[in-house]
Amino acid sequence: MTGVVGVDIGGTKTAVGTLGQLLGVWPTPDSGPALVELIQAALEGSGAALSRLGVCVAGRVDPERGTTRAANLPSLVGFPLRDALHAALRVPVTLVNDADAAALAEHRAGSARGARASVFVTVSTGIGAAYVSGSGALRGAHGQAMELGHLPSPGAHGPCHCGRQGCLELVASGSAINRALRVRLNRPGAAPAELAALAAAGEPGVQEVLHAAGHALGVALLPVCLTLDPDVIVIGGGAALAYGDRLLDPVRGALRDALQPWPGPDVRPACLGVQAGVTGAALAAMDAAPVAAR
Ligand SMILES: [Zn+2]
Repeated sequence: MTGVVGVDIGGTKTAVGTLGQLLGVWPTPDSGPALVELIQAALEGSGAALSRLGVCVAGRVDPERGTTRAANLPSLVGFPLRDALHAALRVPVTLVNDADAAALAEHRAGSARGARASVFVTVSTGIGAAYVSGSGALRGAHGQAMELGHLPSPGAHGPCHCGRQGCLELVASGSAINRALRVRLNRPGAAPAELAALAAAGEPGVQEVLHAAGHALGVALLPVCLTLDPDVIVIGGGAALAYGDRLLDPVRGALRDALQPWPGPDVRPACLGVQAGVTGAALAAMDAAPVAAR
């Protein structure tokens, strides 16, 4: 099927692309109508022959109403995004969560290609996750399946932004890692890139922080492995990209220890980067098409 385009709407940037090519990245406008105009202009400028559009958004998606509820995209709350795009572009529009889209992309075209079942974890501002098998991404009754970041974690204390206490995000998200590194290295104002450079230079104390975060994430993945049986776990997001195996090795170790004597899944870094959301949104749009049209 040709003419399928994916759009990845983030809190700060919106990317548009096809399955094999990124057409462009723009600042995300601060209103729904302006966003629709941006996507329309991007498609007209690219000359792409559009037959279907897939759109992924950070946060909860209501597939029935075609609306989104993302904490970092308040201007879209209540805006009929799917219907507005359909009215402007006159093609079928599929709306999905961004973690589900990235998971679908890594499962079919990225690090988990060939896996029967895979889990995708994104470690960035928060922790998102998704599970993909032959039947697609697991969504649950309210689109909230795989809220890994809000599992209780033994080392986590205090309130989480979700309203609960002691969530994994408080110790293993990119924000939590950077917060702990600033304290450990006594660099209160350090930017994430500066912290990543200090980690790459082997600054003392860094590995201890990364080990604590990776270990907590590995322990949290135990019930996921026992209940969902993935053969591959893909870890992406800004923190995974910045710290690589310094973060992933403790995940692997904790999971291996916890699962013994059972064999564990392969834990691999994500490989699609900024392309993952766009690719996954396009794949979700293809999945939504009638079989005869694919
Ligand atoms: Zn929480």
